[in-house]
Amino acid sequence: MENDLIAAIATGPSHSAIGIIRLSGPRAAACAGAVFIPAGGKPLTDCAPRTLIYGTLHDKAGHPLDRILVTWSPAGHSYTGEETAELQCHGSPMVLTLALEALCAHGARQAGPGEFTRRAFLNGRLDLTQAEAVMDLIDASSPAAVRQAAGQLSGALSRRVEGVYAGLVDVMAHFHAVLDYPDEDLDPFTAQTVEEALSKAGASLEALLATYDRGRVVREGIPTAIVGRPNVGKSTLLNALVGYERAIVTDIPGTTRDTVEEKCVLGGVLLRLIDTAGLRETADPVEKLGVERSRKAMEGAGLILVLMDQSQKATEEEFGLLREAMDLAPTVLVWTKGDLPSAPAPAVNMPLPPVVTVSAGRGDLGELAQAVAELFPQGAGETAGDLLTNARHAEAAARAKASVDWARSALRSGVTPDALLTDVEEALTALGELTGKTVREDVTDRIFSRFCVGK
Ligand code: GDP
Repeated sequence: MENDLIAAIATGPSHSAIGIIRLSGPRAAACAGAVFIPAGGKPLTDCAPRTLIYGTLHDKAGHPLDRILVTWSPAGHSYTGEETAELQCHGSPMVLTLALEALCAHGARQAGPGEFTRRAFLNGRLDLTQAEAVMDLIDASSPAAVRQAAGQLSGALSRRVEGVYAGLVDVMAHFHAVLDYPDEDLDPFTAQTVEEALSKAGASLEALLATYDRGRVVREGIPTAIVGRPNVGKSTLLNALVGYERAIVTDIPGTTRDTVEEKCVLGGVLLRLIDTAGLRETADPVEKLGVERSRKAMEGAGLILVLMDQSQKATEEEFGLLREAMDLAPTVLVWTKGDLPSAPAPAVNMPLPPVVTVSAGRGDLGELAQAVAELFPQGAGETAGDLLTNARHAEAAARAKASVDWARSALRSGVTPDALLTDVEEALTALGELTGKTVREDVTDRIFSRFCVGK
């Protein structure tokens, strides 16, 4: 049911100072008013909306549960667009559970994942990129990820897409003008106007698509490989990294151990450590030299940390691995175990990448953090929130670009306007899917099912 009254605990499941329950749907204030008695004695629905009202919360049997603050908003003035109420209780999981139970006894239903934001989308309060930004903001693991999500939430990406959309709608208007006079060919003046508009749309889409690499780095982090021979200190560095800057962020369990990934922020840059499952299995007898594993980890990496133990003499094979890494991606040569006495420095006759020394066992990663910050100055940098950040965006923008390209080549080869119309319409549909204007329901289902309950 899309229009019934939903309720959920919106704050995390831990004991905390404050815990919030939100309600959305018809009679939200009346439902809240059935379990909450304002201190002034007036029923909640007679209290002014959008103000904080102090009073007593009761359980379903009418026993006092907590002293809380409540606010309610009429339909049209809330996050979801529906009538809503928010109960700010003390952050006791038991109080919140009993309060939710009481609300459900008075006509509310426990909300599903993402149901509040889904209603905000369906009621036109947010478009799809903004709804996705809500989730990205909650998941953000670096300052840059926050800035991107916040900008996207305020509509920066949508505005950029809308600009292209409006240009293509103009093209359609030109076509329709021509189609009203079907006996005439596309007159040269119109053809030129249309070509100009298409080429402008194509260029904007190309620029938009070019933001995806950066957007992905901002949102997901730079895929980072940690390589080196066994015992060089890879898993110790990994453990120090995920504990660094209080940045254990996520542990994404994949279907196979190969896809386990961890994130950390180093030097202000979000790193996504790839193939970390392999790193933690240091005793793998099959992988004596670790070279194959290293090669695999380096594929697709955007940053490679090649580790060498500075207390041991580095081998020719290790420098071979370093050379391979440098051919593949930005690389840092990391001398490990900086706290141990150094072995004699090797004679090196190759150009070297940035070189740092760490002492991961003691958590000393300062030089590495600085090198990463210097390699990716934009990783911590500004974003206006108008980057493409996920595969759904990139796929829709690429489809729009392909349709615009088709339309342009069709125009050059002199086809009739109605043929162009189809291509332009397809481009509009793709852009509409990006912002959610023309998106299919199964797609929105998939997006909102990834939200947490209460969001
Ligand atoms: P991996 O096989 O490359 O993953 O290496 P490990 O991280 O398992 O480390 C191999 C050995 O080196 C372990 O005994 C670690 O305790 C030790 N080790 C790792 N980092 C340091 C360090 O910074 N200082 C010292 N003294 N020992 C270290």
